[in-house]
Amino acid sequence: MRTAYISHPDCREHDTGEGHPENARRLSAIEDRLAASGLADVLRHVEAPLVTDAELLRVHTRHHLDTVSAAIPAQGYRRLDPDTVVCPHSLAAARRAAGAVVAAVDLVAGGSMDSVFCGVRPPGHHAEADRAMGFCLFNNVAAGAAHALAEHGLDRVAIVDFDVHQGNGTEDIFADDDRVLFCSTFQHPFYPFTPLPGNTVNRVNVPLDASAASAEFRAAVSDHWLPALDNFRPQMVFVSAGFDAHEDDDMSNVRLADADFRWVSEQIVGVAARSASGRIVSTLEGGYELQSLARCVELHLRVLMGL
Ligand SMILES: [Zn+2]
Repeated sequence: MRTAYISHPDCREHDTGEGHPENARRLSAIEDRLAASGLADVLRHVEAPLVTDAELLRVHTRHHLDTVSAAIPAQGYRRLDPDTVVCPHSLAAARRAAGAVVAAVDLVAGGSMDSVFCGVRPPGHHAEADRAMGFCLFNNVAAGAAHALAEHGLDRVAIVDFDVHQGNGTEDIFADDDRVLFCSTFQHPFYPFTPLPGNTVNRVNVPLDASAASAEFRAAVSDHWLPALDNFRPQMVFVSAGFDAHEDDDMSNVRLADADFRWVSEQIVGVAARSASGRIVSTLEGGYELQSLARCVELHLRVLMGL
């Protein structure tokens, strides 16, 4: 399988301040691990472009773009909510992060790559059409999915989200769009503390109890995600790849192991092989314990690459 890794140095310049869990060391840990394991040598490396306003406006309001731009400080930090901090370089980072997913779609839809992993930050799945929150400025995966629908003639795309937090932003943006199947697992009740979303034919939200571990997670995917995905037959599969449900990550109570991230990646590859000619665009969301994050991204990439 031909797999690309898209990132950009600007993504490291998004400084969230001392002690913030969503920091540039996350990308360093991932990229150091990919280099040490030798995977970096067999991935195609692509620099993320800046997303355009037109690409963002498919999923965000003009008001949101203006609000984020106006919030960027000339120096120091500014807080958009209790968790979401921006610095002078944050807008460029956010535009690279969303641009990465859009560029990934072009690579995969154009057939030059089978799959792409976007090693980017800030993450995106909490960003709603008109609101930044939860470390997220723009909804990167949503910008990519909308691009696939608008520019590549696709009728059906799936977004699967295994971050431990519910992807309220993605849910919000595609609430009325039946071209998008959204499947997620998340600890509940938990951040973002939005009401438990109702499930429809296009929404497969599976809450996990705080005590959940491998068995509950795998049952959620096997019993709920996979039948919906195989019924929907997505033409491209997007992944909101968050690794904060790992047992070593103290951002949540759910206790998944490395093997669970490998397993769910294998299930996603299976779905994509059955209906989407193997086309997968995956992007980093959460994951804050650096060692488990780096190991699980490596495992995820190995599965995408067929290794
Ligand atoms: Zn998360």
